[in-house]
Amino acid sequence: MAISADLGRVFEVGPVFRAENSNTRRHLCEFTGLDLEMAIGEHYDEVLSVSHSMFKYIFEGLEERYSKELAAIREQYFSEPVSFTDEPCILHWPDGIAMLRAAGIGPEELGDFDDLSTSQELLLGELVKAKFGTDFFIMDRYPSAIRPFYTMPCEDDKRYSNSYDMFIRGQEICSGAQRCHDPALLRQILAEKGVDPEPLSSYISAFEHGVSPHGGAGIGLERVVFLYLGLDNVRKASMFPRDPSRCSP
Ligand code: ATP
Repeated sequence: MAISADLGRVFEVGPVFRAENSNTRRHLCEFTGLDLEMAIGEHYDEVLSVSHSMFKYIFEGLEERYSKELAAIREQYFSEPVSFTDEPCILHWPDGIAMLRAAGIGPEELGDFDDLSTSQELLLGELVKAKFGTDFFIMDRYPSAIRPFYTMPCEDDKRYSNSYDMFIRGQEICSGAQRCHDPALLRQILAEKGVDPEPLSSYISAFEHGVSPHGGAGIGLERVVFLYLGLDNVRKASMFPRDPSRCSP
C-alpha cells in the first residue's frame, strides 16, 4: 500500500508473532522481521538483485567490520564463514527439482509442484554447494499453488510464480516475491484459492487507481544470525527466545 502512495522503496523492522506450535530448532513464536518492498522498474529480477546485494553487503560488512566479534563467537561455536557469489546464484524451481531427482528423490516422495521438506531443502543446499560452490543461494519461481494469494504468477507459465526463498546451507533465511498489483487478477486468484475477498477490500482498493509493479522480501533476523553463525538453535540468537513453551523471562 505504501508503494501505491508512490514511495519507491520502503522497509520495516518490527516484531513478528507466529501462533504456530512449531517446536523446532529454527522456529520462534516471536522474532524480529526485516521487511522490504520496492517498486519494479522493468523486471521482477530487480527484487532478486536488491535482496542479494543487501545480504552480500551484510555478510561482507560482518566479516570486515566485526571480525574480532566473529572470531570470539567462532571460538566457542565453530563455523566456517558463509560462502556466497558476487552475482546472485539463482536456481529455478524445475531445475532445483531436477537436481533432487538426480540425487534420488522420486516423484512419490516429492511431486513437481509440492513444497520441499526440511530434509529436501538441506539436501538441495548440499547439492548447490557441490555444483556452484556457494552456501548462499536463491530458489526462484516457486509453484503458485504453494505461495500466498498475493503472489504474482509468472507471465510465461502461471503454474509458477515470481517468488523466491533465500537459503544458507539449505536453510531458509528469507522469503519474497513480486506482489500481484492487478485488482482483477487478485480477485480471480482469491476466487481460485477460495479466499473471501471482503476482509481484503482495503488492500485491493489500494491498487484500484494504479500502482507500480512491486515486490519485496521478508527476513527473520534471528534466523539469519543463527544460520550465519552456524549455531545449532535459533534460540541462541535471541536474548529472550519465545517458543510454544516459553513466555518468560
Ligand atoms: P519456514 O518455512 O522456515 O517455517 P516460512 O515459510 O513460514 O518459514 P515466511 O512466512 O516466509 O517463512 O517468513 C519470512 C522469513 O521470516 C523466513 O524466511 C524466516 O527467516 C523468518 N521466519 C518465519 N517464521 C519464523 C519463525 N517461526 N521463527 C523465526 N523466524 C521465522
